[in-house]
Amino acid sequence: DEELGVNSRSAPSGTSLAERARRVIPGGVNSGQRSIPGLTDLVITRASGSRFWDADGREYTDYHAAFGPPLLGHNDPDVNAAVAAVGQRLDLCGVAVTDGEVELAETLAGLIPSIDKVLLTSTGSEATFHALRVSRAATGRRLVVKFQGCYHGWHDSVSLNVISAPDRVGVPDPISTGILPEVLDATLVLRFNDVAAVRAAFAEHGADIAAVIVEPVPHNVGCLLPDQEFLAALRDECTRAGSVLIFDEVITGFRHDLGGWQRISGITPDLTTLGKAIANGYPIGALGGRADLMDLFSTHPGAPAFFAGTYNGHPAVVAAALATLTKLRDEPVHEHVYRLGDRVRAGLTEVFADLGVDAVVTGYGSVFVSYFMSGPVPRTYDDLLRNDAGMFIGYRRRLPEHGIFELPLNLKRSHISYAHTDADVDRLLEATRAAVADTL
Ligand code: PLP
Repeated sequence: DEELGVNSRSAPSGTSLAERARRVIPGGVNSGQRSIPGLTDLVITRASGSRFWDADGREYTDYHAAFGPPLLGHNDPDVNAAVAAVGQRLDLCGVAVTDGEVELAETLAGLIPSIDKVLLTSTGSEATFHALRVSRAATGRRLVVKFQGCYHGWHDSVSLNVISAPDRVGVPDPISTGILPEVLDATLVLRFNDVAAVRAAFAEHGADIAAVIVEPVPHNVGCLLPDQEFLAALRDECTRAGSVLIFDEVITGFRHDLGGWQRISGITPDLTTLGKAIANGYPIGALGGRADLMDLFSTHPGAPAFFAGTYNGHPAVVAAALATLTKLRDEPVHEHVYRLGDRVRAGLTEVFADLGVDAVVTGYGSVFVSYFMSGPVPRTYDDLLRNDAGMFIGYRRRLPEHGIFELPLNLKRSHISYAHTDADVDRLLEATRAAVADTL
């Protein structure tokens, strides 16, 4: 592509940029989740719609989608125009509130059933951190319940038992060193979809449980769909014990429905955390819920739970969020991505069957994942231990040769955006046929 200059002599190649990166950035990337074996020389220089391009001019149809934010596709022109427009009149002032923040809070309260009041953060991790802090502030209790396979960000209380090796399931399994043991001890880890485990934990510890935090659909391990009785049991036990129920809808919010999984399931948590698809890739998170809980934050004069952040409510990201939510509401985004999602799941199932490969293709709406295993659709993390990780990663490592990108990390989900087309789906199915044949 001469126009982009990628073939000109002066353009640095991916390898040379990656080598420079490794000299000054630990491991050469800015997130541990971007440190991917086999991709150490990938440097990305352009993204648009359903594609991105690397420094050597190679094109990829992107089903990774940055772990989920760009539901409208990369570099959506309407979102970018809204960001450029607000920049003509406003940037960060860091005092009082701006007009856009008022409009966005009203929009979120109108869309998400549990939200009476809402605060903005820059990331999902900050939202879940503050959800747990305010739960402890409200209840005066110590314990938090989370589920094996769920990820809620990088902070200490939830930094355990995400993707655990088989011998680390059922015991504390921190994702990092440097965490105080007493913080890990204050988190109980239960099996997702296990109603009996939830009842037993509340029978034993109910009076000490400040909060239950859950991804209503654990997408950090691909896709485990929740049993309705399981979410109902969480609601029931939290109400009875006076514990705070937190739905972490950082992935499910807006991607699956403008009202989140709580609108799909009809089960309303006390607090909801949001991020990713709110602003199509601009850095924003949100925490909202019951007014009596939200009013405990120190944004309310004299209230005790400290809440701050220099960039909270930045006008550019607020404008991006408002433009994204407007487009999600006014255009048939969900209809489009759900239809393509169904096509992808049916098409992949057929390709794997044709090739005689044991695979379970699952997901929801715009999210899909192919586990390499036989048997029924997995319901708990334990079921995922049957997935052939070598095949899962090996297949995805071969997809880029055929112009497709799905993240080659075990159990990761893939995403479809409004910018993906039927031709993109055809390309994915053809690439899968070729890549699987090469992997076998
Ligand atoms: N919660 C869930 C369900 C997530 O998937 C993530 C990120 O992947 C987070 C919270 C943390 O969000 P962030 O990476 O924006 O801090």
